[in-house]
Formats: sequence, structure tokens, C-alpha cells
Amino acid sequence: MTRTAPAACIIGWPVEHSRSPFIHNYWLKACRVPGEYRREAVPPDQFHDFLRSLAARGYVGANLIFPHKEAALAWSEPDDRARVVGAANTLWLDGVLRATNTDVEGFLDNLDVSAPDWDRNCETAVVLGAGGAARAVVYGLLERGTPRIVVINRTSRRAQALQEWFGSRVRVAAWEERDRWLAEASLLVNATKLGMPGQPELVLDTARLPADAAVADLVYVPLVTPLLRAAMARNLRTADGLGMLLRQAVPQFQLWFGKKPEITTELRSLLERDLVKPQPQSQE
Ligand code: NAP
Repeated sequence: MTRTAPAACIIGWPVEHSRSPFIHNYWLKACRVPGEYRREAVPPDQFHDFLRSLAARGYVGANLIFPHKEAALAWSEPDDRARVVGAANTLWLDGVLRATNTDVEGFLDNLDVSAPDWDRNCETAVVLGAGGAARAVVYGLLERGTPRIVVINRTSRRAQALQEWFGSRVRVAAWEERDRWLAEASLLVNATKLGMPGQPELVLDTARLPADAAVADLVYVPLVTPLLRAAMARNLRTADGLGMLLRQAVPQFQLWFGKKPEITTELRSLLERDLVKPQPQSQE
């Protein structure tokens, strides 16, 4: 019997310019795995049908980006992590379709490397956004003992849902009040789409952040977002979205292809070069 090479894909809407194919195809080559990683643009109303056809399409698993991270839980067997976060970014076939969330470790590992000891005296974290990525961030911060997490989102109903989901260490503040909360932030995280190409800029009075605050932006196009640039200008510690993207991808590759890949300096600099090329508008 001939065995076809394992394939995985990224499912999103839109999906064209995700850098995950760049990363996973680099690792397939580096690890000498005869596999393939592709993009699949799937609108929400076709998502369930697409998942049912994963095996028939030759996929062993998939990476999920917006708007599918939360919806995926209904169509898969989520592990404890995905269930508690309330969102999944990784699927794999193991008789049944299983789901997990590697954004949590991607976010935390990147923060630990980029802003060591960020959690030593972190009393209050301010998280902008309440989508699938924000859920992973809030869960990670709770896991690491952050006493107070203030979630601020354009649509307050969604922030409220996170508060109800994660409990009393999560507080909600209005989008219009975001500048006022910066003075209390030991850590500021942008988990909105603001700052991505084609999206408005994130307008914030970063001068209000304490001098010892750390700032993380999940957006990675551009690599140095206006938020990170403003934080760097104040000598604040920063963690960029590319670092998280690379770190959340390591356990995914292991799950699908059975080898632990390395985040090499070469890979990071190839991606940095790729990010300055003119692009259409999307990322996970
Ligand atoms: P999502 O579920 O679609 O959530 C999008 C978030 O952005 C929501 O909170 C939304 O607010 C907010 N938003 C969108 N447009 C806005 C606007 N014009 N003004 C204010 N807020 C706005 O997406 P997601 O999966 O959570 O992703 C969020 C961001 O994280 C994206 O930039 C994505 O690229 C990034 N991300 C990066 C990584 C990484 O590895 N670096 C991993 C995951 C995600 P509403 O609720 O009001 O719509």
C-alpha cells in the first residue's frame, strides 16, 4: 500500500497572507519530513463541512485562525486546555477530530523570553480585545497568577462574556476608558486586530504606562507595530507578535509531523525579511 505524505493546513477567512505556511514548510524541509502545509480559505458557513472532509482531503490536522477558533469547539473533541480557554487554534485527527490551544504557550513563552520577570510584580494586566486570541492570553495570565486582568473591548458584551467565563480576577472596562487604565498596567497586551494592515491604528496614550510596564502586541504585520514603537521609545520591555507566532507553531508541528522543530535565527530573519514585502491584508 502506498502512503501519501502527511499534509496540514491553515483554515481562516481570510487566510491569504498568514505566515504559518512559511514557518511549517521551512520546518518540513529542515526536519526532512516529506509533508505539505497549505492555506485553506473557508468562510464560516462552510467551516463544519470542511472539517468533516479533512481526512478525505489528505489532512492530518489544521491550524485555525479567525473567525473559527471558538466555533471549532462544537465540531471537535477539545482537550482540557481548549475547553477551559473556550477556543482552539489546533486540530488533529486521531480517529476523531481533536482540538487544543497552543496560543497560550506561544504567548507566555514569548513574553518570558522577551520580557523576563514580567510576572514578578504584575498586579494588573490590561488586555485589549475579547476574541479567540484574547481568551488564550487571559487564560495564560490567570495560569501565571496575575491578580487582576482588565479586559477592554470595542464590543463590551464580548468582554463581559470573558469575565463570566474566567471569573472574578477578570474585570471589564469600557473601550472609551482604555487610556485611563494604562496608568495601572504592569502589562499591556494588544489582542485586537488594530494595527494590522487594512485596519485602523490602535490609538492609545502610551505615555500613561508606568516606567516598568511590559507591552505585548499579538499583531505581527508590521513586525514593529506603532504600539511597540511607542513602547520602545519609552524603553519599556516589549514582546512582538512574530515571537508568539513562532512559539505557538512548535507544538503544532510536533502534533502533525512527529518531530520537534527549532526556531532558528535563520527562520526568524527570513520571516522578518518576508514581513517587509508588500502584502495583501490578513494574519492570524
Ligand atoms: P477575533 O476573534 O476576530 O477578535 C478580533 C478582536 O479585535 C476583537 O476583540 C474585536 O473587537 C477587535 N477589533 C477588530 N476590529 C476592531 C476595531 N476596528 N476597533 C476595535 N477593536 C477591533 O480575532 P483573534 O483570533 O482574537 O485575533 C486577534 C488578533 O490577534 C489579530 O490581530 C491576530 O492577528 C492576532 N493573533 C496573533 C497571534 C500570534 O501568534 N502572533 C495568534 C493569534 C492571534 P470586537 O469584539 O468589538 O469585534
